[in-house]
Amino acid sequence: MTVMRIFSILYITAVSLMLTSCGSDRIFDRLNTEETLIVLTRNSPTTYYFDNDQETGFEYELTKAFADAEGLKLRISVAFTLEDLMSSLAEGQAHVAAAGLTKTNDRDLQFKATDPYLKQKPLIVYKSGASRPRNLNELVDRDIVVLAGSSHIESLKRLNQTIGNINWREIRAADSLEIMQLVAEEKAELAIVDSIEFRMQHGLFPRLVAALSLEDEEDIVWYLPSLPGSDALRLRFNRFLQNHKETGALQRLRERHFGSSKNASRIGSFTFQQKVKTTLPKWQPLIEAVAYEYQLDWRLLAAVSYQESHWDPTAISPTGVRGMMMITRATAKDLGVIDRTDAKQSLRGGARFIKSLSRRLPSDIPEPDRMWMVLAAYNIGMGHLEDTRVLAQKNGLDPDRWQDVRELLPRLQNPIYYSSTRYGFARGKEAVTYVDNIRHYYSVLKLQDVPGNLIAPPIATATLLPVDWQHAIPAAL
Ligand code: GLU
Repeated sequence: MTVMRIFSILYITAVSLMLTSCGSDRIFDRLNTEETLIVLTRNSPTTYYFDNDQETGFEYELTKAFADAEGLKLRISVAFTLEDLMSSLAEGQAHVAAAGLTKTNDRDLQFKATDPYLKQKPLIVYKSGASRPRNLNELVDRDIVVLAGSSHIESLKRLNQTIGNINWREIRAADSLEIMQLVAEEKAELAIVDSIEFRMQHGLFPRLVAALSLEDEEDIVWYLPSLPGSDALRLRFNRFLQNHKETGALQRLRERHFGSSKNASRIGSFTFQQKVKTTLPKWQPLIEAVAYEYQLDWRLLAAVSYQESHWDPTAISPTGVRGMMMITRATAKDLGVIDRTDAKQSLRGGARFIKSLSRRLPSDIPEPDRMWMVLAAYNIGMGHLEDTRVLAQKNGLDPDRWQDVRELLPRLQNPIYYSSTRYGFARGKEAVTYVDNIRHYYSVLKLQDVPGNLIAPPIATATLLPVDWQHAIPAAL
């Protein structure tokens, strides 16, 4: 190597070190001047992702709420792996890392943690039918996959020191999807996955089962780089998190992002997965066309029609509701549906009904709460939904928030409450399960990224509906 080359390498290294140190040392000063909070995260269903071109995700919304409360702009920086995320943080390229990060001893030595805002258990996951580890000793000599750079590696190292012969493979990815897939495809025996992530991804891998947990519940925190000025920001974060806990906002955010799969059973998920492969392809073009016509997300219409009829146009219930969207005879008449067993008519009627219910709700109810309320009304009728919203108001809850309405819907089954409502008894618990299931199916379709086919609206708009159909729907429906 020539002297010149050595010199230029040294020069470049020095310049980049200078640049890095300028960037990092000043990052907390710049927060005051530029008023932009830089957040490092990873792209995953539990942290940050796009939903119909809109940024969302638990970590995104939580950091956005902080930025809004403090009058800061938010800049999201996405790392592909946890290792990249941690090294960018160490270099001071962001003010904070918010990515479902577990608080660990090693990380605490290098970074500054906020107070915890979530708890998770690291689960040991296997495929049903394979040999299940019953305790930690049974992890010896098994083929375990784990996310590279994750907290779980620290746990496995500790376990290796106590019982020995613990082998693992580290997979470089942004979230646990890939390691769950390895187990599902029998390319690995066991995977370590955080409990919330496991629940969220479970719909995609219904045959995976949690055998036991590797640790007790662990704290999930935000980490800040150990740089001048970071302590002050950490205090601001902690005050914000404390306040978010006290007002219940944190709990609501948790419910909104992680609450929907609670009622959807594993068996239900499995059947759904099968039907997505066997039956959906037949109906998808029609569902997409109808959804396009009514400006709905086709995956939502697919989720509703699956919940209603399992995509069976000839479905019939003991109470006489029929077809793909299970419309009653009376509603069919109002919606101009002549043949309820005609899939196109049924889907169009259902889509119109969804739109009309949405229009009848007060305009300031935000999405997605609005859609979950519409679906509850689709199930038990707008009158009962209104009753529940009145109950919410009387109880100091927010009638425009789905979580609050969801909490009170079961009261429609209790005479103490329904005797004083306008429309009386309704199967409120069933409505909660109904909406939860649809949310689950919908999120599975979104996460699975089932490709849409539609380019242009191919559907012929028949004269199916009377012009004033929206006024013809009985108020209590
Ligand atoms: N909580 C884990 C960590 O902090 C990452 C998430 C996961 O493993 O699924 O490393």
